[in-house]
Amino acid sequence: KKNLIIFGTRPEAIKMAPLVNEFKKYNEFETKVCVTAQHREMLDQVLDFFQIKPDFDLNLMKPDQNLHSLTADIINELKNVLDQFKPDFVYVHGDTTTTMAASIASFYSGAKVCHVEAGLRTNDKRSPFPEEINRQIAGRICDYHFAPTIDSKNNLLQENIDEKDILVTGNTVIDALLDSANRVMDMQNEEIELLKSLINVNKKLILVTGHRRENHGQGFINICTALKQIAISNKDVEIIYPVHLNPNVKKPVYELLSNIDNIKLITPLPYPAFVWLMKKSYLIITDSGGVQEEAPSLGKPVLVMRDTTERPEAVEAGTVILVGTNVEKIVLETNKLLADTEYYTAMSELHNPYGDGKACERIISFIKHL
Ligand code: UDP
Repeated sequence: KKNLIIFGTRPEAIKMAPLVNEFKKYNEFETKVCVTAQHREMLDQVLDFFQIKPDFDLNLMKPDQNLHSLTADIINELKNVLDQFKPDFVYVHGDTTTTMAASIASFYSGAKVCHVEAGLRTNDKRSPFPEEINRQIAGRICDYHFAPTIDSKNNLLQENIDEKDILVTGNTVIDALLDSANRVMDMQNEEIELLKSLINVNKKLILVTGHRRENHGQGFINICTALKQIAISNKDVEIIYPVHLNPNVKKPVYELLSNIDNIKLITPLPYPAFVWLMKKSYLIITDSGGVQEEAPSLGKPVLVMRDTTERPEAVEAGTVILVGTNVEKIVLETNKLLADTEYYTAMSELHNPYGDGKACERIISFIKHL
């Protein structure tokens, strides 16, 4: 059987890399990788670390890219790849424009389409934008749905997807993380060495990331205001913030947070250095989906800067707390975790609802038995 695994952004690459490498162990499958390169630099860093060489590289990233032309380009360019390779199964991931456009292109070409990380929903088609609509469309198109949790399976059942086409697998991000977490601690890596020289290990580290469109504008201004207050009132704390390259994020963050002693603004980190930094952190403040899933496996409490979430399991399990972009709430919850050791320890010992690192094995076993 011929597999084509398609992805385009950093988080998709991290979450698909273990599936690519696991499939390559099985001779009965011919597995090829196609990248749209919706993100270029951040994607290549991940490919490097997982030693994946794409068989097809559409290299579609353009300056000031809009969703319309990106979608059109992906569909057009993928047609050539699909015509040439004629895959039996195509695998798409999550909720990006690559996911949505690749599903429709593959469906038109007659492949069976498999959705990895299926069934996450806010059920508000405009939030997050465009992720929610991307994943809903992919959900309609795909033939097989690999849901990370029971909640995500239930969302799919509510949309009348046949139960036999859904498998609860856990999230492949945990497969990637467990494989990487030990490797990064003793690997020789330039960025990790740089981090070691930048960070004051005698202080409690707060790791911050953020990129969601819904937080652009006032959201990021509030986030920065809160971080500044935290830094000023807790001198024993150091905030490390790898700032996303999107100008809507970069501009306010550098304007508001430069020149504060205990706030270190750095460029986005390659995945191994980021995993190293997560392990070194005391707590994480983020709006990232992937980081919410990863952090509990490393015992790190997470404050999530969003009002709605497609990851209710994390809130229910108590591994994350939703703080939105409300300045008081971010400051209050951070100070509580900094001051109350018992509360902190209880949160860091909670079970991760996103899986056990065997998601890829489950996916492959399902496909083998079709
Ligand atoms: N990540 C990384 N470097 C960074 C920030 C995040 O490698 O500087 C990784 C992180 O470990 C996670 C993924 O990127 O696996 C999350 O990506 P992002 O927050 O961009 O997207 P989301 O998960 O929200 O879709």
